[in-house]
Amino acid sequence: MINIVIFGPPGAGKGTQSELLFKEYDLVHISTGDLFRAHIKGETALGLKAKSYMDKGELVPDEVTIGMLRNKVEENPNAKGFIFDGFPRTTPQAAALDELLESLNTSITTCLSLQVPDEELVARLLNRGKTSGRADDANEDVIRNRLAVYMRETSPLKDFYHEQDKLSDVDGVGTVEEIFQRLCAAINRYA
Ligand code: ADP
Repeated sequence: MINIVIFGPPGAGKGTQSELLFKEYDLVHISTGDLFRAHIKGETALGLKAKSYMDKGELVPDEVTIGMLRNKVEENPNAKGFIFDGFPRTTPQAAALDELLESLNTSITTCLSLQVPDEELVARLLNRGKTSGRADDANEDVIRNRLAVYMRETSPLKDFYHEQDKLSDVDGVGTVEEIFQRLCAAINRYA
């Protein structure tokens, strides 16, 4: 199996690149942000809970997120591999993911870490907010809070994957195609 974590701050291009990568490598794409938004749209109890955090740019609690992720992985027993987009975002999530993959006799292939300067991220997110209908993209204070949460809680995970010799730093500035080629080259070094 090839199991990819696509990693980076909000607006780094994880979703865009995941859409290309899952087709290229025949993987199941799991985006926790998309799963939460589907729950919100369906007005489920989980969606109601997630919304209160997402609208402020905070992380949804680990127990909710990890349970949802586990269910999604287990729904795909015949997958050739997964691309995890927006997960893990905390150390307990990363540990839970390793454990889950180990129970399936597999592991993370590489963590692709997209590097994009902060001011470019804010500009991209505000721009996306004009059309995405996402409340968390429309407000600059919420965007800045998401970046702060990323710096505080998520970026330390780079060390987690670096210690496992699985971290690939990739320049996330350029055309979609250029970045895609860089990501494929990084995967091919591990796969
Ligand atoms: P982005 O990466 O652009 O911020 P996402 O769609 O990945 O967008 O996530 C949107 C929001 O969903 C996050 O700000 C957070 O509130 C919630 N979320 C997504 N994934 C997770 C996660 N793994 N753990 C906790 N909260 C999450």
